[in-house]
Amino acid sequence: MLLHDNVTTVKGIGQKTGEQLEALNIYTISDLIMTYPYRHDDFTLTDLSETPHNERVTIEGRVESEPSVFFSGNKRSRLEVRLLAGRHLVKAVFFNQHYLKSRLELGATVTVTGKWDRGRQSISVSNFNAGAKDGQADFEPVYSLKGVMHQKSFRRYMRSALDSVTGQHEESLPVALLEEYKLPPIDQALEMVHFPKNPAHMKHARRRFVYEELLLFQLKMQGMKKIRKETERGLIMDYNLDKIKAFIASLPYELTGAQKRVVNELCAELKSEVRMNRLLQGDVGSGKTVVAAIALYAAITAGYQGALMAPTEILAEQHASSLAEWLEPFGVTVAFLSGSTKGKARVNVLEKLANGDVDLLIGTHALIQPDVIFNKLGLVITDEQHRFGVEQRRVLREKGMNPDVLFMTATPIPRTLAITAFGEMDVSVLDELPAGRKEIETHWLKEDALLSILDKMENELRNGRQAYVICPLIEESDKLDVQNAVEVYEQLSFHYKDKYTVGLMHGRLHPTDKDHIMRQFSEGVIDVLVSTTVVEVGVNVPNATFMLIYDAGRFGLSQLHQLRGRVGRGAEQSYCVLLADPKTDEGKERMKTMTETNDGFVLAEKDLELRGAGDFFGRKQSGMPEFKMADLIHDYRALDTARKDAERFLASKEFWEAPEYAVLRARLKESGALGNERID
Ligand code: ADP
Ligand code: MG
Repeated sequence: MLLHDNVTTVKGIGQKTGEQLEALNIYTISDLIMTYPYRHDDFTLTDLSETPHNERVTIEGRVESEPSVFFSGNKRSRLEVRLLAGRHLVKAVFFNQHYLKSRLELGATVTVTGKWDRGRQSISVSNFNAGAKDGQADFEPVYSLKGVMHQKSFRRYMRSALDSVTGQHEESLPVALLEEYKLPPIDQALEMVHFPKNPAHMKHARRRFVYEELLLFQLKMQGMKKIRKETERGLIMDYNLDKIKAFIASLPYELTGAQKRVVNELCAELKSEVRMNRLLQGDVGSGKTVVAAIALYAAITAGYQGALMAPTEILAEQHASSLAEWLEPFGVTVAFLSGSTKGKARVNVLEKLANGDVDLLIGTHALIQPDVIFNKLGLVITDEQHRFGVEQRRVLREKGMNPDVLFMTATPIPRTLAITAFGEMDVSVLDELPAGRKEIETHWLKEDALLSILDKMENELRNGRQAYVICPLIEESDKLDVQNAVEVYEQLSFHYKDKYTVGLMHGRLHPTDKDHIMRQFSEGVIDVLVSTTVVEVGVNVPNATFMLIYDAGRFGLSQLHQLRGRVGRGAEQSYCVLLADPKTDEGKERMKTMTETNDGFVLAEKDLELRGAGDFFGRKQSGMPEFKMADLIHDYRALDTARKDAERFLASKEFWEAPEYAVLRARLKESGALGNERID
């Protein structure tokens, strides 16, 4: 029998079982073996005299009483029986398993596992075995079987499958590496993960699979990067340095040290043969937009077209107006394209784009539709698109004539996530805020402080400043969301009537209305902008110095940081008030952390620690690869090791030639990271 044979060739797995396994995406013997348990249950016998309340326990006991069964409505039942386990007489309670009655004969020995109620001296049974503990393993793997079959049957098939292919597993890791990291070889590791004898076994096996998985992943990401650099010829953009310098000199401020460094990195890459595939990480307010403008202008002076893509209509419009203001005096023709550019206007833009009359196109996702054809696209920049996954990034890179591509992130991304989600890219970092920025003063208060908060806000308004009031996003319900914002808007309008103008912004407004309101806010016609989180990304109104966030406990740290980043964009002192009454310790800690730091990189790490990777990248689409075993939060050390090893391997001659790396090489090739012809 071979690893890649159909599972049904395994003894004991028939046609019907084969179909059930297919429902779990298991087709071959190898698929079955590589289905790892997601946890292990411990069935070592417990000493009840030492077990605290609510712990999970396993006991072996003799049936001391006739079992009694109680039925209640809805076919629910409760079966109770007394068991003598050592010196302890305990009550075992089974819910909805009255059929077990016949197997609980007086005097019989049984083994049960479940939650221990110390006060009642009872166990609520989750696992039952007729007979003594002897026959049963101490640790049992639990697989994700989606109700398709019983754990027990699955384990039986697993046993049979493992036995049928002993000695056939390919060892991907070189012996020297196994020894260095004290990892079990593949045969042992598979045995230990599926049939562990003790907790150490599981840990040991898990370490191996985690490392192997992360190493392959890192080899793939870095392999892609290496191959791209060696084989993909980028555009060599011979830009006009004098023009770029003149543009920079026209800006109302001097670039920060970090901006200068990043501009140099970008220009060097534009000019080189290497095709740019770069991530620009910068904290909120670090000045990414102007860096993007400089790079785009550089490409344009070299005779290419540029594109800048933003996630929302508002942000795209804002970019279009600032870049037009900056660059049109230098002879650059800027055009705008979004979903709401329709009919003649759209045809007109597309035409000018195709014949080269437009130098710079700014817009939303509408930019990467197939019918948008550039004359000579050289550089594409996406702003605030950290939710773009690897695949979407690839599509973008394949647009037009293989342009250079720069991704700018909304907020700093924790390092482990950055090297995972963006591992195939180069990274530039803007780690400095423009001079003269004051830290945003952040306070965490409860709703009863609202009136004094409004006074504080009025203070700012009186000095000619503006304010944001952010209403929470109500999950799954735009409608409530809007309703909420409308209510707050009405209250504030009443509160400030005749004194200040209050505006309302939410996701359901027509794009042109949104734009209108945003423009009024940025021109200072509106003093207080009540909004849902649609202002979350990118919006820039430096005169706004006050932000009130309702129900701040509902947001993640990175999102709060991003929201808060709408203020503190000018030289004035800014304030952010978080209204929240979190019930959990985690929630309290989040609010406290917000008041303690303005550093987006610190907050990002904390967010990851408190809420996990999925939350970090947003609810819908994570863009993160899925791992079978590895967990980025707990296995960050392994990830770091794997990253370094992958880098070292790819750069070594040994890796590409020596037989002990043959399996890794083959897997890397299978992953598609190397293109087709690179190795044989
Ligand atoms: P983000 O990185 O969050 O996208 P922006 O590009 O919107 O930040 O810039 C934030 C604000 O800082 C803007 O008002 C911008 O004009 C200003 N800014 C950018 N660079 C500098 C600088 N070197 N000195 C002073 N202000 C700057
Ligand atoms: Mg920005």
